[in-house]
Amino acid sequence: MTARYAKIILVATIVLLIVAFFAFDLHRFLTLEYLKDRQQAFADFYTANRILTIFIYFVTYVVVTALSLPGAAVMTLAGGALLGFWVALITVSFASTIGATLAFLASRFLLRDWVQGKFGDKLKAINEGVEREGSFYLFTLRLVPLFPFFVINLVMGLTPMRALTYYLVSQVGMLPGTAVYVNAGTQLGQIENASGILSPGIIFSFVLLGIFPLIAKRIIDVVKRRKAFSGWDRPKRFDYNVVVIGAGSGGLVSAYIAAAVKAKVALIEKDKMGGDCLNTGCVPSKALIRSAKMLSYARRAGDFGLKTGQFEYDFAQVMERVQGVVEKVEPHDSIERYTGLGVECHTGSAWIKSPWEVEVNGATLTTKNIIIATGAKPFIPPIKGIEQVDYLTSDNLWDIRENPGRLVILGGGPIGSEMTQAMARLGAEVTQVEMLPRIMSREDPEVSDFIQCQFEQEGIRVLTGHAAREVTKENGENVLLCEFEGEMVSVPFDKILIAVGRKPNVTGFGLEKLGVAVSDRGTVAVDPLLRTNFPNIFAVGDVAGPFQFTHTASHMAWYATVNALFGGLKSFKVDYSVIPWATFTDPEVARVGLSEDEAKAAGIPYEVTRYGIDDLDRAIADSEDHGWVKVLTKPGSDKLLGATIVGSHAGDLLAEYVLAMKHGLGLNKILGTIHTYPTMSEANKAAAGEWKKAHAPEKLLAWVEKFHSWRRG
Ligand SMILES: Cc1cc2nc3c(=O)[nH]c(=O)nc-3n(C[C@H](O)[C@H](O)[C@H](O)COP(=O)(O)OP(=O)(O)OC[C@H]3O[C@@H](n4cnc5c(N)ncnc54)[C@H](O)[C@@H]3O)c2cc1C
Repeated sequence: MTARYAKIILVATIVLLIVAFFAFDLHRFLTLEYLKDRQQAFADFYTANRILTIFIYFVTYVVVTALSLPGAAVMTLAGGALLGFWVALITVSFASTIGATLAFLASRFLLRDWVQGKFGDKLKAINEGVEREGSFYLFTLRLVPLFPFFVINLVMGLTPMRALTYYLVSQVGMLPGTAVYVNAGTQLGQIENASGILSPGIIFSFVLLGIFPLIAKRIIDVVKRRKAFSGWDRPKRFDYNVVVIGAGSGGLVSAYIAAAVKAKVALIEKDKMGGDCLNTGCVPSKALIRSAKMLSYARRAGDFGLKTGQFEYDFAQVMERVQGVVEKVEPHDSIERYTGLGVECHTGSAWIKSPWEVEVNGATLTTKNIIIATGAKPFIPPIKGIEQVDYLTSDNLWDIRENPGRLVILGGGPIGSEMTQAMARLGAEVTQVEMLPRIMSREDPEVSDFIQCQFEQEGIRVLTGHAAREVTKENGENVLLCEFEGEMVSVPFDKILIAVGRKPNVTGFGLEKLGVAVSDRGTVAVDPLLRTNFPNIFAVGDVAGPFQFTHTASHMAWYATVNALFGGLKSFKVDYSVIPWATFTDPEVARVGLSEDEAKAAGIPYEVTRYGIDDLDRAIADSEDHGWVKVLTKPGSDKLLGATIVGSHAGDLLAEYVLAMKHGLGLNKILGTIHTYPTMSEANKAAAGEWKKAHAPEKLLAWVEKFHSWRRG
């Protein structure tokens, strides 16, 4: 018989048995009521035919679990009631494991080749994980039944786990749960009348049934801890409650919170306090954008009724101002300030020696917990010849003091786009090169089009769909060769700024040696409590992702610090449900929640409401009457799914929608709130008004109209 026929016969048998089970309503025999009704009859039969009863019970149990039929839990309780604790425990333990293994084998025989053939690439990581740690995961799933057992049987059958391993781990893993159920069953069997239900024995047994998953989870946590820490010597006492590595947004906030709750905390920074955001990111970029904006106003002098729009400016002076802004903000993140807050600041490179030891400047600090906040660095794509030019990144851009001339900016994301416009306004001849079909591709296409159009109006050359392949020299000048629709396009340049993404800093400070897991995205892998695979080592900010913003780094810092310091008492899962962001181009683009594209892709039903900011009084008065507010709501409801604002001060305007989403407020609430006239914030209220108009109760209004006409006589 070929495997194909065997499969067909097996499927037919399984289907036949399942159909028979439901068609003849056999499930009624597996209900507590039925078993309770027949308790005495079963007991009598058992007394007369012990072996036969156990055999029938065993075979039925195997069939029920092998076919993934409902009723195994009730059968386990009944087993306890009928057979007594030890006989039931042994019988159920073997029957359930054999049944589970048969389901596992059937799933493997019928589906594994097909699933692995179709999704093999995608399952590679899972397969590797199962080969490495499958037994442990199976054990945890058996002990804490997060998923129904039949799902585990069917899914594990598709993985490379050996059948014998599956059998043995299942038997051991299910044993404690089986014992708790069987024990509850023995108590059920003893209920003679209503008052028996309240007997201490039965109450205890059912409390045990309820709290067993919690106890099991605790056991698994302890096992995981032991497993993670095995091979490392735990110090007897610790110098610190927490050592934070990296003094950027994530590290500073972590240290701040720890010190605020009186923990002993050390903060280690190898470079400048404040990290990227202060020194090479948000602060200098926004300072540069501000100066560039002044120049754009000058060029638009006519829009404001002014005759001349001449500003004298010097590139170097603008860059010096940027530096001045950084210096002015510096005290907020300084060693002095943090020392004053109670944080012990160390300047030097940190090295994690063990899960409880961090080395800095030759000294070893022992600590209960470690928070990794080492950030990210500009990603340099493997473009042929790139190393031959003195390329710029967001790290060294701030050091230039001369207009870069013909500047290629590689990257159409937020950083690339912000710098494209700012540098062009400051006099560089900018070509922005993006591989994807549009810039700012995380936003809806209309946003990308609008910003690209704005850039082009300002004289910027935007090359989308252009994949940078090589940097070379032609006639003595630098040239970037890009592939566009199968052809090579040459883009000559004097300077090139690479802004194609940021790579998490996960190497060079001991993670590899320690065995801290890194995700497929190259970030430190963390669970929802922000723990790495070492339960006392946490990671926050750019190094952990998934977002790379200052405000998400500080948001994560709260969770990591509280979980590190108080995790034994109460832990908090990091909440990414309402994450706002803004791109500070002119006009700005700000978003919270879903974009329309994302809602479509996820198949989430939505309604769109738009308000054009060209209609807003304040925007007209400011000659900033462009852009829009676009709100996505649940159909038939004023509850927000997302909001995108394109316009002047969009980043600030967004705050109202962030608040609304965070606290479940709808557009009716925004509409019912007084907004100062004339401000840009009225755009939010106007958008809510648009939504209201579209949802006006037409029928009711028709009656109201009749009422007014009647009153007029
Ligand atoms: C040009 C640009 C503009 C940006 N604009 C914005 C914006 O407008 N809004 C926004 O929200 N975000 C913006 N960002 C992103 C923001 O800067 C980052 O998301 C944020 O800085 C991440 O903080 P972090 O704490 O994770 O890492 P970082 O700020 O990078 O801090 C990590 C720190 O760890 C230190 N470190 C690393 N390894 C070690 C070690 N072994 N020992 C000791 N110290 C170590 C580093 O020196 C660094 O100081 C921008 C970024 C760039 C580049």
